Amino acid sequence: MPSQLFTPGPVPLHPAVAAALAEPVIHHRTPEFEATLQKVFHLLPRIFQTREHCCVVTTTGSGAMEAAIVNTLAPGQKVLALVAGKFGERWANMAEALGLAVQRVHVPWGKDLDLTAVEELLRREQPHALFSQACETSTGALLPVQKLSLIRDRISPQTLFLVDAITALGATELPMDDWGLDVVVGGSQKALMSPTGLGVLGLSARAWHICQNGPTLPKFYWDLAEERKANLKNATRFSSATHLLKALACALEILDRVGLPQALRRTHNLQQATHVALTSLGFSSFPETPSPSLSCMRPPAGVSALKLQAHLENRYGMTLMAGQDQLQDQVIRIGHMGYLTNASMLNLFQRIQQSLIELGGSASSLPVVGPLLGQEIY
Ligand SMILES: *Cc1c(COP(=O)(O)O)cnc(C)c1O
Repeated sequence: MPSQLFTPGPVPLHPAVAAALAEPVIHHRTPEFEATLQKVFHLLPRIFQTREHCCVVTTTGSGAMEAAIVNTLAPGQKVLALVAGKFGERWANMAEALGLAVQRVHVPWGKDLDLTAVEELLRREQPHALFSQACETSTGALLPVQKLSLIRDRISPQTLFLVDAITALGATELPMDDWGLDVVVGGSQKALMSPTGLGVLGLSARAWHICQNGPTLPKFYWDLAEERKANLKNATRFSSATHLLKALACALEILDRVGLPQALRRTHNLQQATHVALTSLGFSSFPETPSPSLSCMRPPAGVSALKLQAHLENRYGMTLMAGQDQLQDQVIRIGHMGYLTNASMLNLFQRIQQSLIELGGSASSLPVVGPLLGQEIY
């Protein structure tokens, strides 16, 4: 039996998505596959909540972040990067490696962002772009994307707002057009309920304008203006990752059938139930403002997050994540995205309770959290 996934990406797959991955290989320049792509390009904007075209790139989420940068920014331009955890560092390091002048706004991990400080920096620097995560997966924090966008509109409206929404897209409310976001980046293995290997990108009308007319950084493979031309003919510019795209089309159809509001509510319910169950076992929430996408929690005093993770993996075949970098042994992270059944969640809570005892802790009882999980929707 393979280990059961409870990670904030990759996520467990719906059986129909898994079945799509087992189909025979087809060629990408065929009517059958064009229909799949047509479905993807039709359904993706509904998840982004945009009227603009959305692109798919064959890469992990980080590659899509790089595509976002090279298509909308030019060498030497000044950008402001909010660094609230590991993924904020990635945005900033990537932008620097690509030749942008990066100013970092450090936010202590798990703490709420000081919006006044960001406002002052925007006023003083008038940067070409502002970078943020929507959900910082290393700390479980939800960042105030809508508020940031409103501040940008007021203080420095020409600043592009690039959002890494890889654990937010499809998991938390993030209406791209309504909130005025210029680039939104998603990844297949998070709330899009597919395997790792595809990045998705939404661009605002003005981001598309820059992408098509420049100036931008040098690019060839990542040229989204060229990619979009191919997409208009229900094709990708280079060989399509046919299996991954078929899986994505299937997952997007499921999400569309269920409806985005219901999908977001499901994520929220899983988080609420996890919070109540683990709090009663002595865990405490790490971020001040948790994202519904995942729970990032400190274990009870004296319990090592790494030992707990290893115990659940080795004894019970359940994979969840400990922390990254400075939080490595401090927190456990449980994802609320993908195909998670109520039974599997209740089982996880019981196994965590059992593991705490087996690791030498004391027994506390689990409250009834079944009703908090609500209906299974997939
Ligand atoms: C998962 C994730 C990424 C992308 O990671 P890849 O390993 O490149 O897919 C980027 N940002 C956030 C916030 C993530 O959760």
